[in-house]
Amino acid sequence: MQPIEWTVTAQEGEARTGILRTRRSVIETPVFMPVGTQGTVKGVRYEFLEDEMDARIILGNTYHLFLRPGAEIIREMGGLHRFSTWNRSLLTDSGGFQVFSLTDLRKLTEEGVEFRSHIDGSKKFLSPEVSMEIQAALGSEIVMVFDECPPGDAGYEQTKKSLEMTARWAKRSKDRFNELQDAGMDTGFIENPLSEAQKQLADAHKQLTDREKQLSDAEKQLSDRKKQLTDREKQATDSKKQLSDEEKQLLDTEKQLIDREKQLLDTKKQLSAMKKQLSAMKKQLTVEEKQSTVELSGRQALFGIIQGAGHLDLRRQSLELTTEIGFDGYAIGGLSVGEEKSVMYEVLEFLAHKMPQDAPRYLMGVGTPEDLIEAVHRGVDMFDCVMPTRNGRTGSAFTSRGKINIRNAKFARDSAPLDEECPCSVCRRYSRSYIRHLYQTGEMLAAMLISHHNLAFFLDTMRKVRQSIKLGRFNQFRKDFLRKLQENEQTDV
Ligand SMILES: [Zn+2]
Repeated sequence: MQPIEWTVTAQEGEARTGILRTRRSVIETPVFMPVGTQGTVKGVRYEFLEDEMDARIILGNTYHLFLRPGAEIIREMGGLHRFSTWNRSLLTDSGGFQVFSLTDLRKLTEEGVEFRSHIDGSKKFLSPEVSMEIQAALGSEIVMVFDECPPGDAGYEQTKKSLEMTARWAKRSKDRFNELQDAGMDTGFIENPLSEAQKQLADAHKQLTDREKQLSDAEKQLSDRKKQLTDREKQATDSKKQLSDEEKQLLDTEKQLIDREKQLLDTKKQLSAMKKQLSAMKKQLTVEEKQSTVELSGRQALFGIIQGAGHLDLRRQSLELTTEIGFDGYAIGGLSVGEEKSVMYEVLEFLAHKMPQDAPRYLMGVGTPEDLIEAVHRGVDMFDCVMPTRNGRTGSAFTSRGKINIRNAKFARDSAPLDEECPCSVCRRYSRSYIRHLYQTGEMLAAMLISHHNLAFFLDTMRKVRQSIKLGRFNQFRKDFLRKLQENEQTDV
């Protein structure tokens, strides 16, 4: 029995949609995975990720959790799922990337890497074996092999040496991984994933009912708005009868009236977006019901990582070495580490479609909305990036018309939501003006609201991507989406 099941459901050019079933959730791909570095997606509660955004998989960082609270505490608390209460899928990285990017003091040998904690300077050691042991204690659904990440500007020889060691480490990772699975060291093990899936399906049905209630509430709000509008119109007529010194006031009321009408239109737009989402959810449920009959082993899955920086022949070599060992899925590492965008696209163009067709392809640590679209176009299925939450904390919001920074003075009197086309709960309720005020006064809610919206925007974008691939319209979607992103793009964010 296999730990995960992977099925391609539609394809347009190299872009593809698929269903990835793990022991804990059904994930439609292409998928964006929110990053939960310390066992939390910074500033965003799991309730929102589950109920509103419907995220099916998030990331945990081995390096950070290894240093604090430590693998032993998490094992004692029953694994990362029980510890954090996140019950859907988790992917954990190997810790390699952080060791090589966060710590200055390290000693790299064939055996592994000795480094000093960036927190207290204490000596630590990570190796393929140790990384597999920590990830078993975390109990994630998808485990990453321990790899070496050379710097983005590494030369050919250094990159070649590094990827060859990464391949040897991948083999050691797999051997230790298998031992740990056999020894029952994986805290996330599920005896019978099928019954778990059925339980989740029932939850999804409940969620659907909740969504329908939300929709009918929104419709009620809309009709209230309409009534308010009529009242305003009556008031305006009354005002017209009043004295000439009130003419200015009348003008203001008329202006307000126009704003209200605009708001009403926006609400209508949001409503129709919600309706679309709802029907997509319904369709997906049907797909899941069909899918949840295949038996899974209940164990962890292990992904290999392809390195080679911007050197195409080294990428090919790394691909061969990695697929030779054989993994449940394959990741592309060492991109988005400071190289030119054109290099990343060139590597993806060369590499992605050569990766096994029958396994998910994961581009690590990428990226901006345009990066996601471009990578999907070249055949990538999975992504993760800290950008939505990191930018959220600095006041930067991703929107369908490009990035905006809420610190900008022009938003001080802007009653529009962060993104007029976004159906998220932040955009349904709060204005740019208010969020800017929160940000300027140092209120923590500002970062929370923008992070929430950013994640919702990323997940919603991937939903649209999947929809367009299924309808055979991805190429058109890609063109329209990228053109629209240019509209607001600022240089100061
Ligand atoms: Zn939003």
